[in-house]
Amino acid sequence: MSRLEVRGLSVSYGGLVAVDAVDLDVGDGAIVGLIGPNGAGKTTCIDAVCGFVGASGHVRLDGRALDGLPPHARARAGLVRTFQSVELFDDLTVRENLLVAAAPTRWWSLLADALAPRRTRVDVDWALDALGLRDAGDARPRELPAGARRLVGLARAIVSRPRVVLLDEPAAGLDPSESTALGERLRALPALGISVLLVDHDMHLVLGVCEEVTVLDFGQVIARGTPAEVRADPAVARAYLGTTR
Ligand code: ATP
Repeated sequence: MSRLEVRGLSVSYGGLVAVDAVDLDVGDGAIVGLIGPNGAGKTTCIDAVCGFVGASGHVRLDGRALDGLPPHARARAGLVRTFQSVELFDDLTVRENLLVAAAPTRWWSLLADALAPRRTRVDVDWALDALGLRDAGDARPRELPAGARRLVGLARAIVSRPRVVLLDEPAAGLDPSESTALGERLRALPALGISVLLVDHDMHLVLGVCEEVTVLDFGQVIARGTPAEVRADPAVARAYLGTTR
């Protein structure tokens, strides 16, 4: 059984079908890539899977249907995402940025944390360790290089120990060495219990860390396979020709 199972996902904006009957699976311990030219529908897919835009089709996490649930309920179920722009609180430390994300929003969570106060702290330390940020915990995000700031955004996403994290262009703006370092951190996530769906234009990153890649064009799946299969697929080459990247 897939950890994340997406079936027949479709999103329309007026007359434009941005995502067209997309199926996706992210298994236990998997890092799956989702690529495609500009405007192919990748971000809309993430938006729809996480409940940020209305969609038809089905999303299941560990076999449980999430259809119709708002984003925070999907996050609580273990499905979280990052956004293309990392909005960190520059006046807070890295550790505080993660604590804000982990802060309980319901009175019963406050009560549970009062009874077991170590849990949140332990998860923050765990997330910092997972991404090699332990030494940066007391720094302000603006004091860190771009690659480390991106990792803080990722740490904030995983601080609740999600089942699946969906990453929207985490390597955008990073230089090749920062992207390589990010790839190393992503590779370690499955062993920590987190499966990954990775959207990025950095082919070196995506084809380097993903065992399976799905290719979208005009909202439709045009190819799916191992990085080698996708690299060799003429339909993929055609989709990328004529784009600016
Ligand atoms: P990129 O790689 O450039 O980020 P993408 O593959 O993530 O692109 P989307 O941003 O999902 O593509 O966009 C898919 C299509 O839906 C595009 O044609 C885009 O213009 C359109 N679109 C996206 N968001 C909206 C919106 N809120 N309203 C109308 N059209 C939208």
